[in-house]
Amino acid sequence: MKTAALFFVLALPFLSSVTQVCGFDFFYLVLQWPGSFCDAEQKCCYPNSGKPAAEFLIHGLWPNNNDGSYPSNCDPDNSFASSQISDLMSNMEANWPSLACPSSNGYSFWAHEWSKHGTCADSIFNEHDYFEAALNLKDKVDILQILSSSGIEPNDNSYSLSSIEEAIQTGFGFTSVIDCNKDVSGSIQLYQVQLCVDKTGTSFIACPDSSSGSGRCSSEVKFPSF
Ligand code: 5GP
Ligand code: 5GP
Repeated sequence: MKTAALFFVLALPFLSSVTQVCGFDFFYLVLQWPGSFCDAEQKCCYPNSGKPAAEFLIHGLWPNNNDGSYPSNCDPDNSFASSQISDLMSNMEANWPSLACPSSNGYSFWAHEWSKHGTCADSIFNEHDYFEAALNLKDKVDILQILSSSGIEPNDNSYSLSSIEEAIQTGFGFTSVIDCNKDVSGSIQLYQVQLCVDKTGTSFIACPDSSSGSGRCSSEVKFPSF
């Protein structure tokens, strides 16, 4: 008994260094505007399945902490297997396409998102349920329609950041976090809308006060066409 206890005490530092603690408080459902991914410096390539719909598409479902920190790459042994999501494939292609070059079937983007973010929620979701949860959440909200209802359209015009935030607060019912990037000529544009989701991955919630994603945005942001 004493030997077992001694072994445990001696092994503890080693065990904790290989087993990252991956708690989290909520998820971000991160939706990207394809027009802003494509007109940026890295350019884009349409996926093998063709040009995606002009709508906010899934970038990821990211476990996050209320203090702004987040876990990542929590379980190197749990790597992405496309066979786990074969029943979701057409839904994934439509709603979670990869716009990176060269054109692809999306597997490497999904593998990256699963390894970096999904494995940090593997106490809640297996791989299949993680991707399905993100698809179900995206299905519940139409950001383009919400913005359009407030006269904010992807027509290369600029809109105030506050009008975008208010439109989403009004049409969606909760605060969100807006993230921006730059087009090739350096104009700051609406890139991502991050919606907050409870830690069961099923219900939208208001984003914690500490959330700040608007650091890359300016007070006026372009909304490019796609
Ligand atoms: P960027 O440097 O473009 O803001 O972020 C690069 C990557 O870091 C993101 O794609 C995402 O994987 C991760 N990341 C950045 N900010 C956050 C965050 O607030 N929460 C989480 N969970 N991941 C983030
Ligand atoms: P994150 O920024 O989420 O950590 O990483 C995103 C990674 O996925 C980057 O390496 C990026 O090149 C790749 N990627 C592949 N397809 C896409 C896409 O459609 N959108 C974004 N944002 N990244 C993509």
